[in-house]
Amino acid sequence: MPTKECLFCEIIEGKIPCTKIFENEKIFAFNDIKPVAKKHVLIIPKKHMENAGDRKHIKILGELMLSTNIIAKKLDIFNSGYRIINNQGKDSGQIVDHIHLHLIGGEPLKEIN
Ligand code: AMP
Ligand code: ZN
Repeated sequence: MPTKECLFCEIIEGKIPCTKIFENEKIFAFNDIKPVAKKHVLIIPKKHMENAGDRKHIKILGELMLSTNIIAKKLDIFNSGYRIINNQGKDSGQIVDHIHLHLIGGEPLKEIN
C-alpha cells in the first residue's frame, strides 16, 4: 500500500473512472486523460510500487514491457510503431509515484534525438 494517497491505486480500486484498455492478474492499462498523441495508454502494476529502476521490481517491469506488444496490437498500432516512456522524477515531469509506462502512438511522433 502507498504511504499517501495514490491516483493510480484509486483508479485500480475503481474510485476514479477510467477507460480500460487491458487487464490481467498483475497489470492494468487505461487511456491517459491528457493524451500527447492520438493513442496514449498508461500501463501500471496493480500493486503500488515506486521507482522503476529498483531491482526488486525486475519481474513486474518485464511483465509491463511484454504487455506493450499485446496493448499495441489492441490499439492497432503494432505495425505502425509507438514509443514507450517511463518518467522518473521532477525534471521528467513525473506526477504520479506509482510505476507506469506511457505507450504513445497512432501518428508520427516527434523525434527525441
Ligand atoms: P507522469 O507524468 O509520468 O507521472 O504520468 C502521469 C500521467 O497520468 C499523466 O500523463 C496524466 O495525464 C495522467 N493522468 C492524470 N490523471 C489521470 C486520470 N484521472 N486518468 C487517466 N490519466 C490520468
Ligand atoms: Zn499506487
